Amino acid sequence: MGFKERLALETGIKLNILPTSYQVIGDVLLLKLVKIKSPSEKKKIAKSVVTILPYIKTVCEVKGVYGEFRKPKVEILLGKRTETTHKEHGILYKLDPAKIMFSKGNLTERQRLLVQIKKGEVVVDMFAGIGYFSIPVGKTSRPKVVYSIEKNKASYQYLLENLKLNRIENIIPVLGDCRNLTLPEKADRVLMGYLPGTWRFLPAAFGFLKNRGIIHYHDTFSKKELWEKPLYILKKEAEKAGFRLEKILEKKIVKDYAPNVYHVVVDAVFSKTKK
Ligand code: SAM
Repeated sequence: MGFKERLALETGIKLNILPTSYQVIGDVLLLKLVKIKSPSEKKKIAKSVVTILPYIKTVCEVKGVYGEFRKPKVEILLGKRTETTHKEHGILYKLDPAKIMFSKGNLTERQRLLVQIKKGEVVVDMFAGIGYFSIPVGKTSRPKVVYSIEKNKASYQYLLENLKLNRIENIIPVLGDCRNLTLPEKADRVLMGYLPGTWRFLPAAFGFLKNRGIIHYHDTFSKKELWEKPLYILKKEAEKAGFRLEKILEKKIVKDYAPNVYHVVVDAVFSKTKK
């Protein structure tokens, strides 16, 4: 029996209005309760969650993710503490999911990235968050260095803690806006793990790149915009920055973002035209 079926059995609430998905971060469980409005039913669900999954200490309802810092709006249904430590593939991530977005949906994407990075590369993570991409890269891909940029102080503090927790020494955390920064060296690879409107950050991404390098460009596009629009944007922005789009390594849909809108990623090689 699946989680949802067990929840229906425990709560007596109809299966079709129960949440279809949930996320466990450390000992905190987050769920969306779009079809349930009654506070008592919500509490009932939270109590049943800890009966089914006894290691869960806090149950939260996620009401949305907002603003440039992708800050979640969360209501605690059961428990007190929301700060937790999440373990994934041997890496520890301390964070407060009530304050900071943490998308475990990026697991496949992260794995795909890890195998591409070559030993000795200089990597820039323009939107590092708590280190969800940077730390596995630093730990397993043996880059020379990862510059992990994060603008939100709360996320940056967790990034610092997570570097210590995982004893990572090849990551240089940088607090600031990735659009206004100059780093001490240019990068072989730039990660742009931010949505939506990521194209606005492409000028900064080209600013970080060596004469030849790779950008992992994430953004959102509607079905009919694929793949003409993202490729047009990349070509145009490259040209403006004095680069040329040399080769597309891969382009793929990561996941649904909204009805008929996808979160996509394009991995592309660029080379400088004006040296
Ligand atoms: N890549 C990480 C991950 O997958 O968990 C974090 C992704 S999160 C969607 C985007 C992050 O970018 C947030 O932590 C946000 O605070 C940060 N951010 C937003 N605008 C920024 C900017 N201009 N410069 C640096 N960081 C920024």
